Amino acid sequence: MPKSASKTLPPIMQRTIRRPVHAIGIGVHSGEKVRMTLRPAEEHSGIRFVRTHLDAPAEVRASAQNVSDTTLSTSLADNGIQIATVEHLLSALWGLGVDNLVVELSSEEVPIMDGSAAPFIYLINTVGLVEQRVAKEFIRITRPIKVNQGDAEAALKPFMGFKASYTFVADHPVYNRYPKRAQLDFSQTSYVDQVSRARSFGLINELQQAQAINKCLGSSLENAVGIDDFAVLNDDGLRYQDEFVKHKLLDAIGDLYLLGHPILGEFEGYKSGHALNNKLARALLRCEDAWQLTTFGEEPRQLETPILQPAVI
Ligand SMILES: [Zn+2]
Repeated sequence: MPKSASKTLPPIMQRTIRRPVHAIGIGVHSGEKVRMTLRPAEEHSGIRFVRTHLDAPAEVRASAQNVSDTTLSTSLADNGIQIATVEHLLSALWGLGVDNLVVELSSEEVPIMDGSAAPFIYLINTVGLVEQRVAKEFIRITRPIKVNQGDAEAALKPFMGFKASYTFVADHPVYNRYPKRAQLDFSQTSYVDQVSRARSFGLINELQQAQAINKCLGSSLENAVGIDDFAVLNDDGLRYQDEFVKHKLLDAIGDLYLLGHPILGEFEGYKSGHALNNKLARALLRCEDAWQLTTFGEEPRQLETPILQPAVI
């Protein structure tokens, strides 16, 4: 492409929220009520969780290396302090381009809200975002990297923007009625419109198994799509025709945002879940020749392909 045809875009700066905002909900796994406060945070401080209501407030960084449990959700732990079910909030923060934030929690689990990322986006939009004084840092993938677990795979490839595809594999009469593959290029697709509203989902008999190991104790049709042998049980049905596979993408985006920066690259997931998403993130961090931190803050940049634009509501 001749240089004159390339696009000149303004710098991309780090973002935080304009002022604190609160929400109250329940933890989907603990069933416990939790109060969450989101607070603005300084440049380069990242996403940090703070447990209040302890003898001394304790902090856990949103980091792939702090992932401690991936059974049905992604949990973090540091110095014995646990933060559970972080993936939907992190996915929303990626969608809004939030780099720096303090997340205070009165209990150990992020509230599940409606089982999607949309309520977090709504909450943050009530206070708005502010651009900060330093450039946003992206993790630019410089060579392909792939991990697997059985026949499940998760991979990242170089791409100047962010694309994600996911293949959901489950042979069930209800799942078989809906699309099992989604492929989205976020330079052309709104995360907020097309992904953020996709809810958690599960089979009712899987719910009973999860509750036997003290998971999903707060799960209900208020915060998940429930499925029996024949049908979706929620009165209003699905929010998207491909809501199941879109939720898997929403989860993967949240899990990968634990890298601490948005990815410039292409993600491909095949049956991957929280464990494999974290394995991919850790593998990437270990392979220092597979990525570079990149900013577009100092000079207006010229790109032939539109770069990831933070969602604008
Ligand atoms: Zn999820």
